[in-house]
Amino acid sequence: MNQSNPHKLIVGNWKMNGSLAGNAALIQDLLIGWPKSQASGRVQAAVCVPSVYLTPCSGLLHHSAVDLGAQDVSAHEAGAYTGEVSAAMLRDVGVRYVIVGHSERRQYHAETDQLVAQKAQKALAVGITPVVCVGETLLERQAGQTADVVKRQLAAVIQLNGHCVSEIVVAYEPVWAIGTGQTATAEQAQEVHDLLRAQLKAAVSMHERICILYGGSMNAGNAKSLLSTPGIDGGLIGGASLKATDFLSILADAEAVSKV
Ligand code: PEP
Repeated sequence: MNQSNPHKLIVGNWKMNGSLAGNAALIQDLLIGWPKSQASGRVQAAVCVPSVYLTPCSGLLHHSAVDLGAQDVSAHEAGAYTGEVSAAMLRDVGVRYVIVGHSERRQYHAETDQLVAQKAQKALAVGITPVVCVGETLLERQAGQTADVVKRQLAAVIQLNGHCVSEIVVAYEPVWAIGTGQTATAEQAQEVHDLLRAQLKAAVSMHERICILYGGSMNAGNAKSLLSTPGIDGGLIGGASLKATDFLSILADAEAVSKV
């Protein structure tokens, strides 16, 4: 249960930030600091960009060591769903990962566990890896409900997607740690990662280890300690992914930790 994953996945979530020129500059700095020629293969990197910037970023990231991700996907395949972007469209422009169930979407767009599960299903159907976010609010933690909440959120995805769940990435993101500067301790994160891993193992008989990321105020200062915690397979990084030096520092920490 507690063994460390020798591979790490570091995913940036740019949220609703950026501009054509700013993204190009950020990506240029990332690709200089994280060149494909030097990538060991132990650390995978991706950035999840606003949908309007997917196409230009896809061009900039083409053949690089940084994969392209989206921040949301429609639960529908196609048709009269004004404003939505389908999984097939994301694949069309070179998307490799899509975040589903981020707490900001659960909170501000009333996304339910079932909707999140459907979004994961649509992504899986076209070969895009859904990064399924789960996490408790501060009130839920204080009420001792953390385990129940994250297990309920993950159970919906498992129930709808069956054995395909072996293809997802899970991100444990305590809501109280997102954008607050208040990171979960390594022990708090490990405890939740362990129970999510147990839930996944019980749900699908598989030999493969499902990647479980930690997210919530991970930054250049705390990444090494979090990433070296058994059970934490990488990070979903919000604020710190907007500065190339910070994101590169986290990637370097992931690389160092994956060597041990
Ligand atoms: C996130 O939005 O997924 C996130 C983890 O944000 P931050 O790193 O800014 O807390």
